[in-house]
Amino acid sequence: MVEPSHIPQDLTACPDCDMLIQTLPSEKHLEGHCPRCNAVLWYSAKHTDTISFAAAISGLILFYPAITLPILKLSMVGQRGSNSLIGGIYRMWLENEHSLAALIMLCSLIAPFMHLLLTAIVCFSVRINHFPAHFPLWIKYIRWMQSWSMLEVYAMGIIVAYVKMMHDGEISVSGGTYCLSALLVCVILCSQYFHEELVWQHWEKHKTA
Ligand SMILES: [Zn+2]
Repeated sequence: MVEPSHIPQDLTACPDCDMLIQTLPSEKHLEGHCPRCNAVLWYSAKHTDTISFAAAISGLILFYPAITLPILKLSMVGQRGSNSLIGGIYRMWLENEHSLAALIMLCSLIAPFMHLLLTAIVCFSVRINHFPAHFPLWIKYIRWMQSWSMLEVYAMGIIVAYVKMMHDGEISVSGGTYCLSALLVCVILCSQYFHEELVWQHWEKHKTA
């Protein structure tokens, strides 16, 4: 294991092509780009996570309708039915599929919600320049929640169900699908535009101030 004191401090790895680039701390106040693939290596201290903050707030607003509104409406052999995300989990729990229900609840409800909530809180803290004692933990939890958030798998399941059942009966998409799709876009934007390194820099600056 390499001792922290032996790790070169002036090297930055490109997040896109892994190239190691020698950088000077004095350059860090400007935006840095990779010479090979032009990816952003670091943002200037003035950069704020506006898009991820807006996406997190929009996602939190969309969350309740996305999980409670019916996703698909089905009419088959005289029977009609519809189900929401939360209703599906509840039904699965009643069918004694407890572990599966708990897993879907973690990946489709808890993790995406906590991911959006923590991102919103962290971005807001940076904006108002107020850093509570648990701030570093929140940044770490964002990454953890991001790993467990698999809303896109659920969305894929809806598409598969729709395609499979469209010939067997009358099936139509409902409001829940649109809200869930918009929520998925918010979660993706939130991950894509959240710059963890920049947030850590703000935290470090606050600690040394
Ligand atoms: Zn690169």
